[in-house]
Amino acid sequence: MVAGALLMETVEAKCPKCGKTYHLRSKKDSIICDCWQICPICGEEMTPYTPETAPKTYGLEGLREMKVLMVCTRHHPHFYGTQKPVEVQADA
Ligand SMILES: [Zn+2]
Ligand SMILES: [Zn+2]
Repeated sequence: MVAGALLMETVEAKCPKCGKTYHLRSKKDSIICDCWQICPICGEEMTPYTPETAPKTYGLEGLREMKVLMVCTRHHPHFYGTQKPVEVQADA
């Protein structure tokens, strides 16, 4: 027999950024999608952007304006993620 917990009603919610579907416990529930941490180029998890990972090169000012949150150092030049965490909520 299927466990009773599995029959609990959930609300489907889709991340507007990556299309990943989540099952929320209620319509008031929400979840932070982790796609903002994932590099769109290689699909690996990126590193939180800190001054230490900042390039000591021309163009730093521009990056600061972009509000870089994550960086993927697997690429040259590095990929800078500016996407904010996406809060996924159930469709109203
Ligand atoms: Zn997402
Ligand atoms: Zn990458």
